[in-house]
Amino acid sequence: MLRTMEPVDRLPLSPDISRESVPVQWPDGKKCAVMLTFDFDAETMWLSRDTTNARRPALISHGTYAAKIAIPEILKVLNEFNLPATFFVPGWTAENHTARVAQILEAGHEVGHHGYLHFWPEPDKPAEEEREIELGLEVLQKLFNLKPTGYRCPAGETTDRLIPLLQKYAFSYDSSFMDDLHPYVHKRGGKSTGVVEVPWHWSLDDVPFTVYSLRGQRAIQTNEHILNIWKEEFHEYYQRGALFDLIMHPQAIGRPSRLVLLREFIKFVRAYPGVWFATGNQVADHVLKANQ
Ligand SMILES: [Zn+2]
Repeated sequence: MLRTMEPVDRLPLSPDISRESVPVQWPDGKKCAVMLTFDFDAETMWLSRDTTNARRPALISHGTYAAKIAIPEILKVLNEFNLPATFFVPGWTAENHTARVAQILEAGHEVGHHGYLHFWPEPDKPAEEEREIELGLEVLQKLFNLKPTGYRCPAGETTDRLIPLLQKYAFSYDSSFMDDLHPYVHKRGGKSTGVVEVPWHWSLDDVPFTVYSLRGQRAIQTNEHILNIWKEEFHEYYQRGALFDLIMHPQAIGRPSRLVLLREFIKFVRAYPGVWFATGNQVADHVLKANQ
């Protein structure tokens, strides 16, 4: 018996499937855009799927490294190159590593929403999904008087309620979908939602190449391997005038040799003329204005 699940006769975003992929005209004649993004999951990466890990201190210390060591190192790199970045921060991280998030904001970088405990939303648990968004908003508001405009879902997990929820809570962009190389405005029922999609992809994410645990084993890759993929992808994105959305995690890219990788990749990108390094918020603003 092959089919044990209910047949899928409709995709949640079916009105968008026929949408054409349209390159964006970047500001000041720039040829492509690059977003340096950091998902500051910290311990939530290890807590969200198994909250009993809260009682496994060595295991979750993997995430503690992000706050203890990595964030200052990453801020140093960004400062050296004078580049803006976007940090997606779960509410739990903001509560438990408040000083680090304050440092990110003081350095002038954008902070976006990344859930509360980094829970992966379940299609049949709408209340839990909305609560994660509300809690994340409440924490950033309370601690930093901040209303984030951008959202990235934890681990690429979403439901078809995501875009309506982002509309309801007045986000201007999302960075959860992998269906394009160019940013676009989400539509529902043929109408603009006012939510820009800033697409991503696992190949531009550091975790699949670097994060190892006995409970989730993957091969740890060399910098050369990762750089090859990122450089080759970037070259092609550049030819297409696309948006290169690099997804890094302080606990991964903040390891000593990975910081060398980050510096080397930034130098590689800067050798191309006409690259716009932007935050998610800047990209979303630009796309919304272009679509008015
Ligand atoms: Zn994350």
